[in-house]
Amino acid sequence: MELRIRLFIILLLISTISYSSQNDKNRSTPTQTTVDANWKNFPYPKINFKNETLNGNGALYKKLIPNPEAFIQQTCLEVCQFLYPSVDKIKRIDEINYKVHDYKGVSGKDGSAPVINISFSSSYLKDISKKMTKEEMLAEIKGVLVHEITHGYQPEPKGIGTYFTNKEFYSFIEGEADAVRIKAGLVPMSARKPGGSWMDGYKTTGFFINWLETKEENFMLKLNATCNVLDKWGWEKVAQIFFNKSIEELWQEYQDVLLKENK
Ligand SMILES: [Zn+2]
Repeated sequence: MELRIRLFIILLLISTISYSSQNDKNRSTPTQTTVDANWKNFPYPKINFKNETLNGNGALYKKLIPNPEAFIQQTCLEVCQFLYPSVDKIKRIDEINYKVHDYKGVSGKDGSAPVINISFSSSYLKDISKKMTKEEMLAEIKGVLVHEITHGYQPEPKGIGTYFTNKEFYSFIEGEADAVRIKAGLVPMSARKPGGSWMDGYKTTGFFINWLETKEENFMLKLNATCNVLDKWGWEKVAQIFFNKSIEELWQEYQDVLLKENK
């Protein structure tokens, strides 16, 4: 990428990220009411919670999560704090329809902001209860929720098609959802394995994004900002902007780290 363009994009991104810290400095000024950087004005969505298997497998969900509305709302705030530098930058969700029921699968999200629907399988919960402790089940429920809620709030890459037509798009969406789950401490580091590609999504891309955060401060916030800045989004551009390397080179560097770790 041409140096001039790179510098322009970096400056644009820095202005996006530093906004919140600058606002922090101004916080004591009583007249300043425009932007809230401390998340105290976070617009918690309304949660329409339904447990359809309360008399069956869903009883276990109720036992583990006695106050699901507050649990889901709190998770929304936590996810947004991983994705955005300040509350005024978030994608707004007003309502979440959350349903616990028996089905084959784990969890899923459909719809898009401002109203999203999330399903969670109580038969899956029953299955894992046979091999997991209470703490592990709680981490699994929370981890799965973090992943789905990230889908609700995360920005989408521009100019490259959709989740279903473009692998870069797909890997960003599924990779970031697991990156947030990892950053929240809800995936054991033992799940990090060499192999695959940055385009695989889920944990493979998620741990890669997580590793990139060790090379570039607040990388996930900056990665999200690229969705607004780049007309035609791509991992190659992201790699060039922040690391001045090709995505292949970065991936290889990461693989070398993993291979050493697994020796
Ligand atoms: Zn997903």
